[in-house]
Amino acid sequence: MRALSRSFATASAVAALAIAPALAAAPAPAATPAIAPVPLTEAIPSDLPRTARPSHYQIEITPDAQALTFAGKVAIDLDVFAAAQALTLHGNELAVTGASLVPTTGGKAIPLQVSADAKAQTLRFTAPAAIKPGKYRLEASYTGTIGKNPAGLFALDYPDKRTGKDVRGLFTQFEAPDARRFVPSFDEPSYKATFDLAAVVPADRMAISNMPVAKEEPLEGNRKRVTFATSPRMSSYLLFFAVGDFERSAKKAADGVEVGIVAPSGSGSQADYARDSLAEVLPWFDDYFGVKYPLPKLDNVTAPGSSQFFGAMENWGAIMTFERILLNDPATTSPSAIQNIYSTQAHETAHQWFGDLVTMAWWDDLWLNEGFASWAADKVTDHFNPEWSYSLNAIDGRETAMGMDALPTTHPVVQKVRTVSDMEQAFDAITYQKGQAVIAMLEDYVGADTWRSGLRAYMAKHAYSNTVSSDLWAAIEGAGGKDVGRIADAFTRTPGVPLLRVQATCAGGSTRLALTQDTFSLDPASRGGQKPVWPVPLLIRAGEGAPTRHLMTARTDTVTVPGCGPVLVNSGQLGYYRTLYDGAALTKLTGNFGALAKVDQYGLVRDNLSLSLAGYQGMAPGLDLLAQVPASADATLAGEIAGLWQSTYGLLEDGAPKRQLGTMIARKWSPRLKALGFDAKPGEPLTDTKLRAQLIAALGSVGDAGVAKEARRRLQALATNPAALNGPLKPTWLAVAASNADRADWELLKRQAAASTGLVERQLYYSSLGLARDPALAKDALALSISGVPDATSAPQIITSVAQGHPEMAFDFVRAHQKTIDPMVGQSGRARFFSRIVGTSTDPAMVGKIEAYGATLPADEAKPVVQALTGLKQRLANRPRQRQELAAWLKTAGRK
Ligand SMILES: [Zn+2]
Repeated sequence: MRALSRSFATASAVAALAIAPALAAAPAPAATPAIAPVPLTEAIPSDLPRTARPSHYQIEITPDAQALTFAGKVAIDLDVFAAAQALTLHGNELAVTGASLVPTTGGKAIPLQVSADAKAQTLRFTAPAAIKPGKYRLEASYTGTIGKNPAGLFALDYPDKRTGKDVRGLFTQFEAPDARRFVPSFDEPSYKATFDLAAVVPADRMAISNMPVAKEEPLEGNRKRVTFATSPRMSSYLLFFAVGDFERSAKKAADGVEVGIVAPSGSGSQADYARDSLAEVLPWFDDYFGVKYPLPKLDNVTAPGSSQFFGAMENWGAIMTFERILLNDPATTSPSAIQNIYSTQAHETAHQWFGDLVTMAWWDDLWLNEGFASWAADKVTDHFNPEWSYSLNAIDGRETAMGMDALPTTHPVVQKVRTVSDMEQAFDAITYQKGQAVIAMLEDYVGADTWRSGLRAYMAKHAYSNTVSSDLWAAIEGAGGKDVGRIADAFTRTPGVPLLRVQATCAGGSTRLALTQDTFSLDPASRGGQKPVWPVPLLIRAGEGAPTRHLMTARTDTVTVPGCGPVLVNSGQLGYYRTLYDGAALTKLTGNFGALAKVDQYGLVRDNLSLSLAGYQGMAPGLDLLAQVPASADATLAGEIAGLWQSTYGLLEDGAPKRQLGTMIARKWSPRLKALGFDAKPGEPLTDTKLRAQLIAALGSVGDAGVAKEARRRLQALATNPAALNGPLKPTWLAVAASNADRADWELLKRQAAASTGLVERQLYYSSLGLARDPALAKDALALSISGVPDATSAPQIITSVAQGHPEMAFDFVRAHQKTIDPMVGQSGRARFFSRIVGTSTDPAMVGKIEAYGATLPADEAKPVVQALTGLKQRLANRPRQRQELAAWLKTAGRK
């Protein structure tokens, strides 16, 4: 799954990959593979009694898209290991209308009585007498419901691209754990089985699943039965089905596999970019993992809608991705969305191996899926798009992870997951970005070739099976990767961020470093006491001297490295730790900033700003480094730095220091925007288009009058020409104009939203309505969100937009209308939604309000609320000092 995240971290300055030519073929999936008749191991958690396991499912469903219900029939081949009165399977909101158990070796069908446990999400099939061990076929007919949220079989309503009329498509989303809303099943990752899926659908609709269509039969009533080919052995959460008025744009990738983009009819060439990038990345992964992609096709299915929680899902052979990050519409797609289309597809394609072919045994090891897919995606994105400087984004990922990992509410990467709520909340920055950062650090430590050899061995050994983290470390160590298990265990099982304090002294042409290990914490109150010691891989460089690799394994250590230049401890920025230099060492680095590699420049700025914000040093050292980056910097670095100035500006309250900082930022950065121009130039690099957007956003938000005026001029042109804003900068201009909107501007935006015929465009207008700084307009945006006028998925977007500038108002509104809003975000996501809304608040009154909300939730669901509360308390504790020191720095910096 691709989580929603502001930054998409990338792995590294990746060495060009020498691809070994010979590919090991994965063991071919037999249609009905022999399963050893042993019960599941007790080492893997399970909700189900360990009496039976499935080998094959035959499913037929008949959806009624208008009534939002479906009828299903399932036959499950299973092995019963121990005599039992009943069989327990998962089932959630399914009504079983009949069930029997047929011995496959012959004999009479055994009628089964069915009872449901809604809380446990299970169905109990009870026989009149004990079921003897043996092979059976469990047959059941049932009905289920089609929801409006992506859980189970769900419906998306969207305007047809040719007629503008609302149409409905059906899709499935089963991670995690919602296959049980679709079919009675053993809905846990270690119960792998093969699947035969068939569906009865309207004759003029396209149906899509993991495998290609094997057979289509016309039925009466203008319907048809579509039967898909048998899937390989896989986990239930990877099964997929969609039906709707779709078109498919396909081509053969270099490895012979057909890749296709399934999109709403009328999408046309909007699918081209995604199709071509999918065809590019798939064969790269064949080579990298040393196992050829085993299915005959790989589709990526456009979901015309959005979720507050994820962007895409890696169903085997049939990825699903929300439209805004899959289709390239020249009228609305921004340069960062283009990069997101590429990297999201890369992430989901990596999952076809890491997750689909080899799957974590249980959700404790979800990071094996997500950390790896994130890391691998950035590796391939960087490989094919070196001009994007994707390695800088890895630093954004590191910062996101550390922001969560440095709070007392953090958790280990490998965590205990027991309940459905636990599963849903496992998809967070620790699982994704910390997981990715730790993997990048380990790859760098053992070397790219050893790392790849280990991964190839792991894939070959565990194909079509399940693993735990230690299986991976064993494979890397088997390939020659020393210390991997030890470092990986420490970083994945002990939560928190190592902090290295560094003192450097120079003598006789070498630098001697005295290192002390501590833990970086955003919470001053939890800085004392006994701290863990991690084995930390260091790559130390003193000026032009050769880099020295060192594994720090004790609380204190000394290292001597050649050279006497400025010392960089985390050279290359792949280590997951913070570095607090003594004053002299940091001054030396700041003074020689221009000589550092781009990735080190950015990493050093981010690391030191974070240390300043947390109070480990004053604000000045972090800001001095930030100010070192010239406006003429390379486009990617410049865009990131402009964004950092924008967030620094956001720390201040209205007043003289804020105005002074705004002027300073505008004076420095508007010449760069002027040089780029307000409009994209034909044929310019994507990074220039992106930088233009970032500068407009940053300058627009710090009060640059020229940018605000231009945004309003462009917005007002919409009154006479609805296409006036079309182009890659549309989202950016809209955001700037909307934040400064007066009543007339806002009404114009609202009319554009209502008149818009494209879903992505409509959502763009609706969410921009929430960005208004004017509190009266923000209030109206909230009221509009639940008025029934915007579509169901736009409503939460409007609310989160309002929360960016008015978190307290948005929170109060959501609390007051909880009964209406909970179903819009989905029951399972409501706590995370609430928590995100208060993510920027600095209002002490919110403490009590958040606590009161948290008290209404069960403990396992309240975790994100507790995290949000901890984050708020940390902001309240740190913000006064940050503001004071920032204002003091401005007094000196202003004179420079
Ligand atoms: Zn993922």
